[in-house]
Amino acid sequence: MYADRINSLPPYLFASIDKAKAEIRKKGIDVIDFGVGDPDMPTPPHIIEALKKSVDNPARHRYPSYVGMLSYRQAAADWYRKRMNVDLNPEEEVLALIGSKEGVAHTPLAFLNPGDVALVPDPGYPVYATGTTFASGVPYRMPLLSENDFLPDLDAIPEDTARKAKLMFINYPNNPTSATATASFFEEVVDFAHENDIVVVHDNAYSEMTFDGYEAPSFLETKGAMDVGVELHSLSKTYNMTGWRIGFAVGNRDIIAGIGKVKTNIDSGAFEAVQEAGIAALSGPQDCVRDMNRIYTKRRDALLVGLKELGLDVTPPEATFYVWAGIEGSSLEFSKLLLEKAGIVATPGVGFGESGEGYVRFALTNPVERINEAVERMSKLNV
Ligand SMILES: *Cc1c(COP(=O)(O)O)cnc(C)c1O
Repeated sequence: MYADRINSLPPYLFASIDKAKAEIRKKGIDVIDFGVGDPDMPTPPHIIEALKKSVDNPARHRYPSYVGMLSYRQAAADWYRKRMNVDLNPEEEVLALIGSKEGVAHTPLAFLNPGDVALVPDPGYPVYATGTTFASGVPYRMPLLSENDFLPDLDAIPEDTARKAKLMFINYPNNPTSATATASFFEEVVDFAHENDIVVVHDNAYSEMTFDGYEAPSFLETKGAMDVGVELHSLSKTYNMTGWRIGFAVGNRDIIAGIGKVKTNIDSGAFEAVQEAGIAALSGPQDCVRDMNRIYTKRRDALLVGLKELGLDVTPPEATFYVWAGIEGSSLEFSKLLLEKAGIVATPGVGFGESGEGYVRFALTNPVERINEAVERMSKLNV
């Protein structure tokens, strides 16, 4: 019944964890869930107010424009100038997205012919590879290894693969490893893209979720990046807006136009009231972001205490709300043990790709008190 693109999807690796989780819950055991990367705190009130006001305006009830309201694209461009020091033309270099995921999923349709290669990080956000497969492309997995600070080794990509590649996905600050990129890595990517005629998509969903004074750069700040790439941006994690479905793509105008062409034929844009809420988020006060980052820092530090109890020495991540902990043996087995013995859910790294084996991911989406409870349980575990 199903098409090959559905049949060829990798097996759902979390199925056994999901089942175990349901069974533990059925037993009445209190489960502390560090599994899902979805902020637990509410959207800041000034953004909700902007939506409420906008939704009363009948002009917002109609089909939105495909590329997004100019006022929204202008707000995105203004934010980029202020925050990233990158100048963008809102008419041609900014495109509204129904979340970054939507941009990731649709971009391969614009640039891959059947059999073309897309370079994707492993471990990585799964949609880079599935979006590629859905476009009849072939994902080539670039291992992110701790010895390379979880940056792909571009020299290790075989020459013929590089030549066949049309697209490259990168993502820093990174999900799931929480690694950050250096300016020199972004320069390497630009050179590599020039040499091999590759479109670069930098997924910058976590640029604002940073700690200890770290500031995440934009790929577009790199010299020559505007010639080869785009950056995807999301309001989901920054403003606790995962359910609202709003983001944007910025960068090279021809690449933006290509993604726009695909979108014109698939969706009809983001609800304009949500775009107006997005304007309030991007151009309003940013102290909500700083406040949330302070909370994530406390949660991170609390969790690291517990991981130490388990014998896991993790360097405190400077960005994202993930802790990527190296473990001994199978990540699936380790996650199962945590769940069955301590009622704690962590995501097995292998679910993000082969090179994620040997790690588990904790999402910092529980209040400190719950994390302390998890730490208490960890201290009683013998692993
Ligand atoms: C959460 C996440 C997204 C999805 O963002 P939306 O804007 O909610 O679609 C995209 N990329 C990465 C790496 C993510 O972790």
